[in-house]
Amino acid sequence: MKKASPATAPRSVPLSGQGTLRLRTETGVISVRCLWKRSVRARHLRLTIDRQNQVVVTLPPRCPVERGFRFVETKAEWVVRHLASRPPPETLAAFLARKRSLTAHGRNIPLLMRANTKNPAFEWKPAAGHIRLAHDDGRHGEAVLVAMLRDWAAEVLAKRTLDFAARHGLRVKRVTVRDQASRWGSCSSKGTVSLNWRLILLPPVIQDYVILHELAHLKVMNHSDRYWLYLQGLDARAAEHDAELSRLASQVMGLGRRERAACV
Ligand SMILES: [Zn+2]
Repeated sequence: MKKASPATAPRSVPLSGQGTLRLRTETGVISVRCLWKRSVRARHLRLTIDRQNQVVVTLPPRCPVERGFRFVETKAEWVVRHLASRPPPETLAAFLARKRSLTAHGRNIPLLMRANTKNPAFEWKPAAGHIRLAHDDGRHGEAVLVAMLRDWAAEVLAKRTLDFAARHGLRVKRVTVRDQASRWGSCSSKGTVSLNWRLILLPPVIQDYVILHELAHLKVMNHSDRYWLYLQGLDARAAEHDAELSRLASQVMGLGRRERAACV
């Protein structure tokens, strides 16, 4: 296998992040939700606004983050103008209604949704091959929906992780599924793999890539060339999947969060 060179090795997983940014504008100071990404393919700094009304800053491989901050500051008026003209951020329910499937065990599982304010319920019957979801699409519905999806994610993501670990002869001590703000996953030196519940919202190959990415850290804790080489042995298309993950982050990472206001 070809050795991953620093110029082509995927970098977006360790270097992406999410946070709040305060911008000085002509009409005062505003706070905006901001997603930082580093892309090996970006030639210039890029600024966009995603479906969650987050400001997405894409940095070329060697561009210092401070330059990214300064760049956004100079574009504050552009950000204000564009946020004002955007529809409200997409809700988790709207995203699911559009997608109509969840990911587990390496495949898309069809999702049959119906609005039911009184009795929200999540029913997964493996024999039927689909999930039935009754959800409250009212004001408090989103939190209940997140809780139901998180419970299921905890079960299926742990199973997928342990299956992969067994297949590749890796020892995992524990798998936790959490509501991370900006990370898809992490791996501790003690062997605990933590995954973001939103992985069930990603396509199967991308979900598997994140799990394999974290499992590969059981062998190599950093993101050195040796690490990427090992990861490519687990997922031969790791670089391509990493780039796709970076693209999907702006659609998925902001879903199901309590603070939905992009501009306050
Ligand atoms: Zn990593």
